[in-house]
Amino acid sequence: MSLDPSRLTLRLAKQIEASGPITVYEYMREANASYYSKGDPFGAEGDFVTAPEISQMFGEMVGLWLADMWMRGGRKLDVNLVELGPGRGTLMADIVRATEKFGFRPAVHFIETSEALRVAQTLNVPFATHHDSVATLPKDGPMFVIANEFFDALPVRQFVATHAGWRERVVVRDKGNSFTPMPGTRSADQLIPADIRNAPNHSIYETAPDVSDIMFSLTRRLAEQNGAMLIIDYGYVLPGLGSTLQAVKQHEFANPFENPGDQDLTAHVNFPEIVTLAQMQELRVSGPVEQGPWLQSLGIDARAQQLEQQSPHRAEEVISMRNRLVETGEMGALFKVVAISSADWPEPEGFAALSD
Ligand code: SAH
Repeated sequence: MSLDPSRLTLRLAKQIEASGPITVYEYMREANASYYSKGDPFGAEGDFVTAPEISQMFGEMVGLWLADMWMRGGRKLDVNLVELGPGRGTLMADIVRATEKFGFRPAVHFIETSEALRVAQTLNVPFATHHDSVATLPKDGPMFVIANEFFDALPVRQFVATHAGWRERVVVRDKGNSFTPMPGTRSADQLIPADIRNAPNHSIYETAPDVSDIMFSLTRRLAEQNGAMLIIDYGYVLPGLGSTLQAVKQHEFANPFENPGDQDLTAHVNFPEIVTLAQMQELRVSGPVEQGPWLQSLGIDARAQQLEQQSPHRAEEVISMRNRLVETGEMGALFKVVAISSADWPEPEGFAALSD
């Protein structure tokens, strides 16, 4: 842990001194905005590795999924392809290579707030258009939307049960680059669903207002403009209690309340809420299913074999990358896949045999 306070720590400390403790939501939002603004946290040298950074096979399978939807959906020429939080742009570059073989060459739109990552994305996908938010996405034509490890980066509000009722969780400065979480002073009882209001002291209830906002806008757009969305992330499939806030620094878990802006903060995605928002717009929901079986049903094993045959000297590496994406002890079971689609698009591939 670094002891000298960082610029972000000093800024947050000043804000706390001036107007009282800040919420966990504000803390996480500021920490991640600062973290992603610094550039490239991905890969073996960085803090964490995402699926598209493990192997091109991941993007190829997502590309196949999209091309299949597009072809069975009547090869419409006006489809826009949108990616939320594209990181380095690796996933989209792999998708584009995989889909153009099928004649699917959509306009590409990126939603990204980090200027530094926008630069990397433009190097990988030069023709993509950048947006700050979903509000400026094209309003006509069907949309395909991809979000891999995006929603987990958005800030959560946390509420904690105390002997005096529910309180929003806030943080104060400790020392160095450390902060301490504690219950806020005002009652938050009215914000807690009735069925959990009597949970024991210290229980934590989380919400993700930015995930809800973005999904509310996108599901409305999908209902109006038609199209499909693929969400891949880790999260829970049944509503529950407990803090899911976690920090990762150089591939190790760290204390989320230390070193804001120097480590990646994430929270688990609330899949039931996403499903409900989609159903409210009368969209079809497929999944959640586990990433491993989903990739296998799209043919990742055949693709791995083909790559092994093409480059026998890399066979071991290909097998190990395939295993990291698919196996249960690796990303295969932790990551979930959900597809949302409007009624006029065909049933999405990769879910039928898995969800029953
Ligand atoms: N999808 C990529 C990167 C995931 S990391 C991959 O799989 O490798 C999260 C990404 O979301 C980063 O590109 C980050 O800059 C971006 N991001 C985080 N918060 C955001 C927000 N509020 N709006 C738009 N992009 C955001």
